[in-house]
Amino acid sequence: MNVLIIEDEIALSKELEVFLKKEGYVCELARTGKEASEKIYVNSYDFILLDLGLPDYDGLELLKEVFKATKEASVIILTARGTVDDKVKGLNMGADDYLAKPFSLLELQSRMHAIIRRKHGLKKSILPIKGFNIDIDNRTVAWKEEQVNLTKKEFDLLHYLVLHKNRVLTRLQLTEHIWGNLMDDDFDSNYIDVHIKNLRKKLSAYEESDWIETVRGLGYRANIG
Ligand code: CA
Repeated sequence: MNVLIIEDEIALSKELEVFLKKEGYVCELARTGKEASEKIYVNSYDFILLDLGLPDYDGLELLKEVFKATKEASVIILTARGTVDDKVKGLNMGADDYLAKPFSLLELQSRMHAIIRRKHGLKKSILPIKGFNIDIDNRTVAWKEEQVNLTKKEFDLLHYLVLHKNRVLTRLQLTEHIWGNLMDDDFDSNYIDVHIKNLRKKLSAYEESDWIETVRGLGYRANIG
């Protein structure tokens, strides 16, 4: 999944980036509202972390723009302590959650996990799929008691396909959300095919993985029924 971090405090944005990368997210940073407003109309994100106190932009105005630009992203607003009004306004406008500074990174992580579960209608963090158990919080896959040895990106692919099960995801969508938003020229669709092939091969060592379908001319789908 990819995250846009809109935050003007350099130390904090760096800290968020390092932490989220370790958690398997692909991160982009925007230090100003202007930079952010350019990105949101061009790229697509799974999460947007939005600091309401930006130097050049009214945070709530930017939030409005975020919702105009994307319906897909989950938004967590970051506020300075004591700005209750903005927090409430932000939630009323449709933000998924908020964190008051200073917050712990583990709290951010658990809020993000909760949003993912809510968004995809999951009750637990372990998804049983076709004999496999996908643990979305701990980023592991098991077949019965045995851990399936996937690379980070293979896990991300599986996770993304399964969360959006029964929907066709294009190669470009998968690339953007798992490797990050690239320039058009850098996009090579074969790249995804190779990773899918490896993923299928690893899963097939335990159980059929033909439910990861290739949809000709379009992309891939986790056909779970
Ligand atoms: Ca700020």
